[in-house]
Amino acid sequence: MRLSQYFLPVLRDVPKEAEIVSHRLMLRAGMVRQQASGLYSWLPLGYKVLMKVQKIIEEEQNRSGAIQLLMPTIQSADLWRESGRYDAYGKEMLRIEDRHERDFLYGPTNEEMITDIFRTYVKSYKDLPLNLYHIQWKFRDEIRPRFGTMRSREFLMKDAYSFDLDKDSAVKAYQRMFVAYLRTYARMGLTAIPMRADTGPIGGDLSHEFIVLADTGESEVFCHKDLLEKPIPAPGTDFRGDLSPIIDDWTSLYAATEEMVNTAEFEAEVPAEKRVSARGIEVGHIFYFGTKYSEPMKATVTGPDGKEITVHMGSYGIGPTRLVPAIIEAFHDDDGIIWPVSVAPFEAVLINLKAGDADCTAACDALYGELNAAGIDMLYDDRDQGAGGKFATADLIGIPYQLILGPRGIKSGEVEIKHRQSGERETLPIGDAVARIT
Ligand code: ATP
Ligand code: MG
Ligand code: MG
Ligand code: MG
Repeated sequence: MRLSQYFLPVLRDVPKEAEIVSHRLMLRAGMVRQQASGLYSWLPLGYKVLMKVQKIIEEEQNRSGAIQLLMPTIQSADLWRESGRYDAYGKEMLRIEDRHERDFLYGPTNEEMITDIFRTYVKSYKDLPLNLYHIQWKFRDEIRPRFGTMRSREFLMKDAYSFDLDKDSAVKAYQRMFVAYLRTYARMGLTAIPMRADTGPIGGDLSHEFIVLADTGESEVFCHKDLLEKPIPAPGTDFRGDLSPIIDDWTSLYAATEEMVNTAEFEAEVPAEKRVSARGIEVGHIFYFGTKYSEPMKATVTGPDGKEITVHMGSYGIGPTRLVPAIIEAFHDDDGIIWPVSVAPFEAVLINLKAGDADCTAACDALYGELNAAGIDMLYDDRDQGAGGKFATADLIGIPYQLILGPRGIKSGEVEIKHRQSGERETLPIGDAVARIT
């Protein structure tokens, strides 16, 4: 992508309204634009990152055996009356009336709708287990939307829903999501710790929140330090096998959110030098809630003996539009964002130091062509502008590699590569650039 033809509305000034660094950087880097309180447009650069985050989520959901579908954002109030949550949900629910004066709502979550789909089609125990997920916009009329897309009113959620014959198999479904979540965050470069959590309005008796430690996080959390270093389950993990050893390993060390912490227990279980009491960002939340929805909504299957069995369910949320700022909170410096390669909007940026010079531009164009042909997703700063501004933009938007080429390099046949993360610079023959990056 040629920057001269791209849409990258970078801001020079630090926006006053942004309280935390990720929000400031997302505005400055032209990733998002606030349209109203808690409502954001994702501009091209931000959208590319969001798509990469979603793709990782999808790949790990699919790997674990979950199946993707797509449900609408608008839901009928009648479904929610069946579960009893229409009145219970309160002011966070955006209620809508259509022209026929029928009650609808903008979905804050989808337990009711997925249960309706399930009960319509699934009739036999032979069709279980089943885990269906989608990535769809949600709306919650948050009392205090803030920190940009970290806590917005309209936000994306990956929500998965598992259906099983009994509690034992439902717990196995829960374990599959637990492992999928560990892998998902790790692939984005994040250390997210599963912590015992309150089940809140979803209800149920088994729940973990996945928390990324950050000073700007809104939750207070307590955990054992060794959880920060635990190895992540490998890609080859057998999701059809017994995952209990992995879960036991992760849950044997103390980790709880402020709603669930018991200070006496925390201090008894964790030696003083291993105690982490910090702030964190909730980037995911998984629940097992048994028959809370299947019972009132009559989601049953016929068991092996012909009897009706009410299915056991769980739900599993991840917030992609919150993950993007969470990643920035973890990876930035004074100059801007430092994207982990896996979610970077472009793999590399090529900086033409002298776009006004015909030879320099010809050499840069040629290199750009080669990098493109090698399948590298490139940003090419071909603008006729001073080098200082180009470096500042490249640093701000956080592309992992900066390839810098000017008249001097062309003379010696060399390109300079700056690694955004380490700040290291190396000089190599122009012809070796493609191989160095791939
Ligand atoms: P919070 O405690 O931050 O309000 P929640 O517990 O209400 O979140 P869940 O119902 O557990 O959220 O939703 C699953 C996931 O959706 C959360 O873990 C989070 O990643 C994301 N999420 C929830 N609310 C928001 C929001 N207002 N903006 C962005 N992402 C959100
Ligand atoms: Mg909430
Ligand atoms: Mg929460
Ligand atoms: Mg939650």
